[in-house]
Amino acid sequence: MTQDFSKLSAIRGMNDLLPDASGAWLKLENVLTKWLSLYGYRYMRTPVLEHTRLFTRGIGEVTDIVEKEMYTFSDALNGDSLTLRPEFTAGVVRAAIEHHLLYDRPQRVYTSGPVFRHERPQRGRYRQFHQLDVEALGLAGPDIDAEMIVMTQRLWQMLGIEGISLELNTLGQSAERLAHRTALIEYLERHRHVLDEDGLRRLYTNPLRVLDTKNPAMQDMANGAPKLFDFLGIESRAHFDAVCQSVDDSGIAYVINPRMVRGLDYYNLTVFEWVTDRLGAQATVCGGGRYDGLIEMLGGRAAPAVGMAIGLERLLDLWSQCVQIVVEPECQVYVVHQGETAHREALSVSERLRDAGITVVLHAGQASFKSQFKRADASGAAIAVILASDEIAQGVASVKLLRAKAGELEGVALSQQIVELDQLVHFVQNNILV
Ligand code: ATP
Ligand code: MG
Repeated sequence: MTQDFSKLSAIRGMNDLLPDASGAWLKLENVLTKWLSLYGYRYMRTPVLEHTRLFTRGIGEVTDIVEKEMYTFSDALNGDSLTLRPEFTAGVVRAAIEHHLLYDRPQRVYTSGPVFRHERPQRGRYRQFHQLDVEALGLAGPDIDAEMIVMTQRLWQMLGIEGISLELNTLGQSAERLAHRTALIEYLERHRHVLDEDGLRRLYTNPLRVLDTKNPAMQDMANGAPKLFDFLGIESRAHFDAVCQSVDDSGIAYVINPRMVRGLDYYNLTVFEWVTDRLGAQATVCGGGRYDGLIEMLGGRAAPAVGMAIGLERLLDLWSQCVQIVVEPECQVYVVHQGETAHREALSVSERLRDAGITVVLHAGQASFKSQFKRADASGAAIAVILASDEIAQGVASVKLLRAKAGELEGVALSQQIVELDQLVHFVQNNILV
């Protein structure tokens, strides 16, 4: 049987990152790395695949993710149920337990990479997307909760992002949630007639999530529901007050959103989201919160923790709306050459330039000067170095400025000039764009 390869394409909702777009990603990653190091967070990495039970236990059975978004399949060799990670926290906590990371001190860690959710693809919502995940393990807060929020505010500043705002809430502790849950179920039962299919299904399994609905017909009902806040004890209130106080002290504006529950089951106390109105329906760029029960629930010795995840596609989308992202050209110098002697000289010139830290593309293959210049232009290089046999014999090269050095040559025709071969590195260093 012959196969039809003409229709090969990527899986829906899973995107290729092409070279023209990758510069902005790498730039974002550089800023993120710098930002995280300012707060003492260290990089770690966990596998893309985990046992399914890690997520069903860690995320909660009655969540969008576990109910309908996971890519789960059985290992063809031994039948194990495996899942492509839909988020990072469960895997990071599994690794922390497995390797006793919390044995003698708390850990500030981060990780990033692709995560997978079977959702309906649209702008800002993909089936493979990328998150940056930040976790402070073994710290009880509220100081660290607030630091995480202050820290994100600094990231927006470092990137020059505007139009993003903070929503805060507290989910209290499980006993408080239980008392609230009883009251909430009673309320939902009284309003059964406005509940949609999801709402009815979750009425008894996860009533808090019923309030997280996006269904317009259910908004009034959700707004009038009993508030968890009214069921909180002194300690939970004090924790939340302390977080709010620190965030206030840092001059960060926020609104308290009592209906914010977050998509995952494991949160308690502080939860927060950074939202924007610049990305259409997919408004949340960053979400986080405290999950003091998770480590123990996954088999570790009980320890508190707080974490957050940033959706990188959404962050990049927002960033590019706020600032013009300038990326490095593919090279600073493009080396054009013709003839055997020139090619050999071009090789050594290119290496000498690279020794000096200059990025160089050496024209590969044989082509006319004209078509080599076209490539030089397309490369974005500031300078073309031209090597021809007769000039080399005189110990010189031609150099053409393809893009004016900022400020200096504006309006002046970009010239071609002769430079001594042994002065070439020096000349290029003085004339590349900074
Ligand atoms: P949403 O309400 O938009 O579905 P969520 O609550 O499911 O978000 P989290 O599980 O908190 O999201 O994930 C953290 C971040 O990852 C989100 O704030 C968002 O920026 C991003 N994100 C979530 N799902 C997707 C997706 N399918 N495609 C792209 N980014 C996503
Ligand atoms: Mg979701």
